[in-house]
Amino acid sequence: MHICRFDKDRLGLISEGAVIDVTDALDVLPSFRWPVPYGDALVANLKPVCDRVKELVATAPSLPLDRVTLLSPVANASKIIAAPVNYMKHVEEARADKAINFGADIKTIDHYGLFLKANTSIIGAGERVRLPAIDKRVDHEVELAVVIGRECFQVSRDQALEVVGGYAIALDMSVRGTEDRSWRKSYDTFSVLGPWLVTPDEIVDSGNLDLSLSVNGEERQRSNTSALIFDVPKLISYASQAYRLYPGDVIMTGTPEGVGPVAKGDVMVCRIQSIGEMRVVVD
Ligand code: MN
Repeated sequence: MHICRFDKDRLGLISEGAVIDVTDALDVLPSFRWPVPYGDALVANLKPVCDRVKELVATAPSLPLDRVTLLSPVANASKIIAAPVNYMKHVEEARADKAINFGADIKTIDHYGLFLKANTSIIGAGERVRLPAIDKRVDHEVELAVVIGRECFQVSRDQALEVVGGYAIALDMSVRGTEDRSWRKSYDTFSVLGPWLVTPDEIVDSGNLDLSLSVNGEERQRSNTSALIFDVPKLISYASQAYRLYPGDVIMTGTPEGVGPVAKGDVMVCRIQSIGEMRVVVD
């Protein structure tokens, strides 16, 4: 299933290029009182929600996809975990370009570990990346995003795929500079997630997905997740050795080569095989 959140927190099922409004399926979600649990209630209850969606779909209204505003399919991520330099050719371009490395000696992911981005930086495909009013380069980084489906801790590599709730396309927007990654990559609107959540049954092999990004029609990034240094099971296992993972937590798996700057008015089109296409405007 391709599940989206759109307009004013409505729930949609993507079907043949249309959005079927299945918001009534949210009635199966539990109600909370303080303190609310960490994580995203929709992702935590995806199975009963999807069961209800199947019952509603025949009579639910349908909208053209280009008439809705797509929001992030995850509304309440407790954290965004991200992988630095996780494609070898991106390591090489970062080493070669002073405008990326700022004089630092670029190593690989096993040296750096993972880093966190502010969960409040998440937006959906139909919102806009807003460039901060600073005189620094801001780059696009297209990445496969893994959304955690259930609470877990210290998961083995063999069991890692069992905790996946779904997949999406991510943009890890990044100011280039000397500051910590958590600062440069957590600006408001700098984590684009979408265009929808794809359930794991639709992804045959997370380790063999084509991904690409173009800006204003010009291709900038193209690779395949088979080139990941730490693959999806390893990233989940690795992250969970340190962090307890909650439903809706997002793992951005790293970007391939071809990163580059964006400017106001640019249109980024990201594609990942078996997920779809996400069009994002820079403001
Ligand atoms: Mn990144």
